[in-house]
Amino acid sequence: MAAKGDMMYAWTTDSEIAKKAECGGAVTALLKYALENKMVDSVLAIKKGQDVYDAVPTIITDPKDLKDTAGSLHCGSVLLSKVLKKYLKGAKDKKIAVTVKGCDLMGILELAKRNDINRDNLLLIGVNCGGTVSPVKARKMIKEVFQVNPDTVHKEEIDKGQFIIEYEGGHKGIKIDELEDEGYGRRTNCRRCLYKVPRQADLACGNWGVIGEKAGKATFVEICSDKGADLITKAAKSNAIGTQAADPKGIEIRGKVEGAMLKLGEKWRKKDFTSLKDNLWSAIEKETSRCIKCYSCIENCPVCVSTGENGKKSLMVDAGAIPPSPMFHMRRFAHISDSCINCGQCEELCAMDIPLALFSHAIRSEADVVFEPKLGKSTYSN
Ligand code: FAD
Ligand code: SF4
Ligand code: SF4
Ligand code: SF4
Repeated sequence: MAAKGDMMYAWTTDSEIAKKAECGGAVTALLKYALENKMVDSVLAIKKGQDVYDAVPTIITDPKDLKDTAGSLHCGSVLLSKVLKKYLKGAKDKKIAVTVKGCDLMGILELAKRNDINRDNLLLIGVNCGGTVSPVKARKMIKEVFQVNPDTVHKEEIDKGQFIIEYEGGHKGIKIDELEDEGYGRRTNCRRCLYKVPRQADLACGNWGVIGEKAGKATFVEICSDKGADLITKAAKSNAIGTQAADPKGIEIRGKVEGAMLKLGEKWRKKDFTSLKDNLWSAIEKETSRCIKCYSCIENCPVCVSTGENGKKSLMVDAGAIPPSPMFHMRRFAHISDSCINCGQCEELCAMDIPLALFSHAIRSEADVVFEPKLGKSTYSN
């Protein structure tokens, strides 16, 4: 019987899922098992749309459709927490299984705190996350740096520090470090992200640490809750997945890779936040002077509450003025200063490419130091 804290290798026993899965296919097999056995009413996951740059959130109620969601889309930077709140009534009346990256999970937990999502009705299958690439930038990077027509790419992956593409006529990999030095690679918020293994989910699944004969053929699963243990136990018993204890050497390797990624994240925080030292407010004023007040940053932020043009005259912001006064942005930064999760949605979806996540993440990090001094000194103001 599996228990919270166990670490194991797991793989699907379904050949169709195995063909499409990123590694062992355990995630898709577990989602399928949960749906077939009515542990949940539906599954929220990501599937490939038109091409590899098109990650589509999809709700599945027929278990046989789950195979379409297998595989990882690294150019898919969609955030699932708002989808749950906006289109699925925050799981208040249905049980839903969701595949979550660290930011999806943090968004869900923030919305659960506000009673916008019912965490108890969710089965959260976490996937480790080294980062995502913005789809628009990915196309540009593939054209300009890889010198490949982005429309011919049918598969992409991030492996051993490289971004690798498969396209009609070949495959190519370039080191992420090199790409990021040239201004491409992972989204800037992902570089600063420190939530690589989503341990507040029910399971945390990934490819780090799968070694030996199971390398590439199994998923590394860390069991993070009793709900997760129950799912693994039942799915293994009914042969929906195969399992074996994780190799101790593999556990050690996984720990080391996670540690290295966290160090890299700290390095990026220091670099990005130091660039704001002494000029945060003037940088905000300058950058937001391009704002066209499209409200996308407000609409797409999991923790932002729109206090905008709701028919009432605002004391702080004049209606109809473009660019809006800096107060429009200051008010937003102020009310999310203790809860920005650095998901990058505001920045990614800003019509004017304003580095909003950089600002809100810097302010959040500063607030952490004030409210939770044990977290240590702010990296940019001290
Ligand atoms: P599958 O059975 O293939 O299922 C994959 C699941 O992931 C599906 O439910 C699918 O809907 C979902 N999914 C696909 N793309 C996304 C997306 N963009 N956002 C949310 N859900 C998505 N593992 C590591 O150990 N180290 C890493 O650095 C790492 N980086 C990752 C980065 C991204 C963007 C993603 C999506 C995954 C990453 N993983 C990483 C996890 C790894 O790629 C596999 O998802 C995991 O090992 C499970 O494998 P599987 O074969 O069981 O999954
Ligand atoms: Fe992954 Fe973190 Fe980026 Fe989310 S913010 S996509 S969890 S690296
Ligand atoms: Fe995400 Fe931006 Fe909102 Fe922060 S402010 S939670 S980065 S959308
Ligand atoms: Fe302004 Fe960008 Fe926000 Fe739109 S998304 S309101 S342009 S800051």
